[in-house]
Amino acid sequence: AMSLSSYKSLLREKAFVNGQWVNAANGESFPVYNPANGELVCKVPDMGAADATAAIAHAQVAFEAWRGKTPSQRAALLHSWERLIQDRCEDLAALMTLENGKPLAESRGEVAYGASFIRWFAEEGIRVTGQTLQGPTPDKRIFTLKQPQGVCGMITPWNFPAAMITRKAGAALAAGCTVVIKPAEDTPLTALALCQLAADALLPPGALNVVTCSRSRAAEVGRVLTTDPAVKHVSFTGSTDTGKLLLAQASSTVKRVTMELGGNAPFIVFDSADVDKAVAGLIQAKFRNTGQTCVCPNRIFLQRRVSQKFLAKLCERVAEMKVGDGFEAGTQLGPLINAAAESKLERLLADAKQRGGRVLAGGQSVKVGSGAGHFFQPTVVSGLGRDSACFREEIFGPLVAAFEFDSEADVVELANDCRVGLAGYFYSADVGQCWRVAEQLNVGMVGVNESMVSSCIAPFGGWNESGLGSESGVGYGIEEYLNLKTVVLNLA
Ligand code: ADP
Repeated sequence: AMSLSSYKSLLREKAFVNGQWVNAANGESFPVYNPANGELVCKVPDMGAADATAAIAHAQVAFEAWRGKTPSQRAALLHSWERLIQDRCEDLAALMTLENGKPLAESRGEVAYGASFIRWFAEEGIRVTGQTLQGPTPDKRIFTLKQPQGVCGMITPWNFPAAMITRKAGAALAAGCTVVIKPAEDTPLTALALCQLAADALLPPGALNVVTCSRSRAAEVGRVLTTDPAVKHVSFTGSTDTGKLLLAQASSTVKRVTMELGGNAPFIVFDSADVDKAVAGLIQAKFRNTGQTCVCPNRIFLQRRVSQKFLAKLCERVAEMKVGDGFEAGTQLGPLINAAAESKLERLLADAKQRGGRVLAGGQSVKVGSGAGHFFQPTVVSGLGRDSACFREEIFGPLVAAFEFDSEADVVELANDCRVGLAGYFYSADVGQCWRVAEQLNVGMVGVNESMVSSCIAPFGGWNESGLGSESGVGYGIEEYLNLKTVVLNLA
């Protein structure tokens, strides 16, 4: 096992505003639990509207100085922050496993992944460019400038407690904006640890602020972040329903928005596919973070000839997977985030069975340790149809829902039969088919014979009800946080 105490050096029980560790104005706090055993980890401030307003005011003051630094000066500070995060990988990973439950190896992976966004955006920030154009008449020249927007409000989820913060804050800070973040109530500790490391890296006070609050105050704090006129941009990652609400609120002051919402990813295996590769890809993408990622394969479409072989190999692999406490060596599936996540999984499974689905593997909750955590077996259900809840809803758990199909045209139609469109995956050995299907899926990201699509290099974003805007990538991610200005110069 690991030394469980080292994370304590990064455990902070206060919010971080204007470079200070602060309590809520109302004096209240809320508990953070370890989802593996239900034990109390600590309490953090349960802030309200007044705290959010104060944080925005500090971020506004900090913005005036931060925008005036050169991109290289900002990049140097961001590189220091990234280095400190990498240096403290073990401590951060332990903190993440403690509050999120994911296996320690995945937490370590997320620290590196999260840090990569800060490095990437530091580099992006120094290469922001505009255009120089001939005017419509001989005496005119046209230039475009890109300038930081101002204070950015960010609301982040619990499934990637570090990376969903660094992918947003890294971009905004590199662009010259300052940020106020409301982390998910389940995982505020990673966010606060990142603040400590930002302070250690000498990021100026007020550039990065974290306002913590419980679920019962999320709406109140969220309202301030989406309506205060000083906030120029709202960036959110989370459920489609919450995203729609925040988008509506942000419209009252016409803020820029970046929305990374839910998905319902198709994962298609064509008859020509390398089945072993497809099984390995599915295991990797489906069970990462115990199935709780927005790009997790949700509907598994198997072409009729390959279906049995694929399911047999999948079940063989699934039977070997280890469910347990994320701190235990060899754990591949940690706990679900909370009781509601388990009830949802049980509801989806009951619906699948009722509609004739066959449970080929798993199907039960698992008792681990004290029994207070919500653990579930990796589960495979086949024989489902379009009427099943698993077809319509984002599963967000370790449940593989398999459907069969006959033709390419049929599966494209099935895959596109939903209102969201985040990620999609397919396995095929037919090059022509690879191009055709990649072009026809109505999603923002496609994995072709590949199930890992996100990195700092690749633009990340969804189509339709999966969101607005892109994060990371060359240009796209940083431009979300820049205003475009046209300057027309008369030479005469
Ligand atoms: P989940 O159901 O997985 O918790 P949410 O979209 O509800 O997904 O949560 C993502 C983030 O949105 C969290 O930080 C949560 O606190 C926040 N959130 C939830 N409801 C609201 C709201 N009404 N206003 C602002 N933030 C909210």
